[in-house]
Amino acid sequence: MAELKNCRKCRRIFPYIAGVQICEACKREEDKLFERIWQYLRDNPGVSMRAVSEELDVPYEQLMRYLKEGRLQIKNPDGSIVLFCEKCGEIIKAGRICEVCEKGLTKALKDTAKELKEKVGDTQDNDRSRKEKGGGFRFIK
Ligand SMILES: [Zn+2]
Ligand SMILES: [Zn+2]
Repeated sequence: MAELKNCRKCRRIFPYIAGVQICEACKREEDKLFERIWQYLRDNPGVSMRAVSEELDVPYEQLMRYLKEGRLQIKNPDGSIVLFCEKCGEIIKAGRICEVCEKGLTKALKDTAKELKEKVGDTQDNDRSRKEKGGGFRFIK
């Protein structure tokens, strides 16, 4: 017997069988949406997810979520699955993010590391100068 669960989209209770926890009505709606996305991509090969989101008026985050959840899979005419960068939505050949984002990510990481280092350096310097400056003072209780 099917379990009764709340639809993740509309919160209605529905008999849940398997897969994503959404009701039949929402599922049909999403199927329609996926169909539109697929058609749009077929008509505009190489278009990014951001463009799809703008053109079809679907929130970008929603598209990204579908992609991450593996629910939105778009196949090339040759049968291979079209992959999109999880960050910017660009079409990629493999992996999860595009080259640009990968570089950006590495750069961001490096920047953070550099910033942290600078901050640590600052505090160390401050400590030192504070000690040097405060050398002659004593707090008397
Ligand atoms: Zn629903
Ligand atoms: Zn990207």
